[in-house]
Amino acid sequence: MSETPQTDEYIQKLPGVGKNMYLPCRKCEANRYFKVLAHKTERSAKLECEVCGVKKSFTIKKPKKAGTGRRKTVSARMQWEELKESRGMDNADSYNMKGSFEADSALSHPKFGVGFVTESTPQKITVVFEDEVRELVHNRG
Ligand SMILES: [Zn+2]
Repeated sequence: MSETPQTDEYIQKLPGVGKNMYLPCRKCEANRYFKVLAHKTERSAKLECEVCGVKKSFTIKKPKKAGTGRRKTVSARMQWEELKESRGMDNADSYNMKGSFEADSALSHPKFGVGFVTESTPQKITVVFEDEVRELVHNRG
């Protein structure tokens, strides 16, 4: 019944029992102080609106962390397959740190094989290889 409101994003830790939390109340249709009645788990609590007395539960969202290295490997493979389909490997230039590579180009690396450049800065390129996304240097001529 209790949808998680937008304002929950910044809450990292549950206040103690008897403390207040400022949250939107669906019955009052306004932000209200909710009294913490009890902690159900480490991340969720039972709350009561101080104005209308409606009870609701509140759960802290788990922080969304950026993908781990292992997960990156899986998505690199998928990304690589997609790029291979859409760009093709025919015009891959041989990689050499003295060369200059633009985003959206393909390259062939002696060790890592064919890769697709997704980002290019004056010093570095981000290349999706079949096994991993790597940052390589270029423009070192
Ligand atoms: Zn209320």
